[in-house]
Amino acid sequence: MLVIVTTTQKRMDAPTVRQVQCKSILGESGICDFAVNCYTGCEHACTYCYARFMGRFHHADKPWGSFVDAKVNAPEVLERQLQRRGLFGGGSVFMSSVCDAYQPAEREFGLTRRCLELLVQAGYNVHVQTKSALVQRDFDLLGGRENASLCMTLASADAAVTAWTEPNASPPQDRIETLKLAAKAGVQIKAFVGPLLPGLTDTQESLEALFAQLAKLPLAEVYVDRLNLRWGVWPAVSHALARFAPHALAATKAMLFSASPSRSYNRSLRVTVRQAAEKAGLKAPMNMVL
Ligand code: SF4
Repeated sequence: MLVIVTTTQKRMDAPTVRQVQCKSILGESGICDFAVNCYTGCEHACTYCYARFMGRFHHADKPWGSFVDAKVNAPEVLERQLQRRGLFGGGSVFMSSVCDAYQPAEREFGLTRRCLELLVQAGYNVHVQTKSALVQRDFDLLGGRENASLCMTLASADAAVTAWTEPNASPPQDRIETLKLAAKAGVQIKAFVGPLLPGLTDTQESLEALFAQLAKLPLAEVYVDRLNLRWGVWPAVSHALARFAPHALAATKAMLFSASPSRSYNRSLRVTVRQAAEKAGLKAPMNMVL
């Protein structure tokens, strides 16, 4: 029997959770063939979240992280869409692209689990990416399958940093423990290291500390990414940096807004990542999305 480890850091105020109906749930995606997002909004409230553009279309008056719309008919809609695609439809499905499929609301609604069940039964390749230890609940569906994988996002092993960069996600140690348990349960595991913040989580010291822990895991692949400019990201990140890490503000601004510093940043980050991986003994295949 698996035990779900603690799942909270420093919590923001509870979000407003609404139950809504959706018309479609299996959408095309640039990451896999399809993406399934059972929730609009994400309670994890990461400062750098690229999905915050969703807030323009839903709850424009509320800050990102403060609302969650649970698509309570998602499993029924998915079942219909899969039936329409037929027996040989197939393809790869990313869970999830604009929310965390295992954010706290999933504990109550179980929508991700029910959709996951349908997808694996229908033979789709399912790639789960999360920052939540709650995914342990679904190891029975993900384990022992070639067509399923779990990718844990981890930009830092330092809980003092993630407490303000990813305030409502599981603490880093719980994510690492979850990967360990996933491997034991026969789940193919991966790590997504990013988006890295200049002068904060992209330093040799920070990366080495994280990689030293990842090196102990049988990871199929490690992805590394820097911070990129997306809608609404700079206002949120600059606000958080000014408050928690003012020393990193100028470097982050230069890296994001000037072409030349941005290119040289990519080059030096690749070197730092390689050196940190070597020193930490991280041997898993590395894919730098830089
Ligand atoms: S877990 Fe992902 S979707 Fe949720 S707030 Fe963080 S970055 Fe955004």
